[in-house]
Amino acid sequence: MYFGHYALATAVKAKKPELPVMPIFLATGAIDIVNGINIMLGISKVDPNLETKPYLYFDLTQIDWDHSLLMGIVWSLVAGGLAYFFYRKDNTTGLSTTLVAFSHWLLDVPVHNADLALYPGSSLKFGWGLWRVMGEYAWHLEVIFSLILLIYAYQTSKKRGETIWPQILFMGLLMCNISPWLSPMKMVASLPEPYTHLLHGFLVSLGFILPAFIFKWLYQQTGKPIKTI
Ligand SMILES: [Zn+2]
Repeated sequence: MYFGHYALATAVKAKKPELPVMPIFLATGAIDIVNGINIMLGISKVDPNLETKPYLYFDLTQIDWDHSLLMGIVWSLVAGGLAYFFYRKDNTTGLSTTLVAFSHWLLDVPVHNADLALYPGSSLKFGWGLWRVMGEYAWHLEVIFSLILLIYAYQTSKKRGETIWPQILFMGLLMCNISPWLSPMKMVASLPEPYTHLLHGFLVSLGFILPAFIFKWLYQQTGKPIKTI
């Protein structure tokens, strides 16, 4: 899952507007930020496969040190701890960041193709395989899932007087970018090694860091009090 993680963060931010943007929007992709680094370091392994739909075009051969259940919990606690110590020392921020980070693992379970181990090296794998079963339609499913959360976020924010159209438009951009038709991973999968796994890892990490900064900027714009004469 990709943009669906941001849809969840948007819904959480709408429900709890007092939460700071960066911890929540970085946490939603924390497990994948680690995944990208692990892939570049050779700790996790991905193999190009143009048949792997809807937009990844890689098989996630071994991602135990970021996407196993145990490591998912560990990285979520790390994310919450970092938010608590470096961002804002209050329990709500720490706990919310941990929970949002772990939501990443839970949302990955339905779509991943049985590559989410119980712990590093375990042969017990989670992942219902909707990516494999549904192919390109798994992207449509992620869009529907995201739209439901975005409608909730829009309505909840509107009640408070904040209109989050810019965030929703940016979500639309992410949906188009990581779609079966425009995903940059297709081009990356056709590169020779070592470029293919290095660029894959780099783009996965970047793809979960850069949008957090853009969301922060967008919330700064939409969260401004309306000027009255
Ligand atoms: Zn993931």
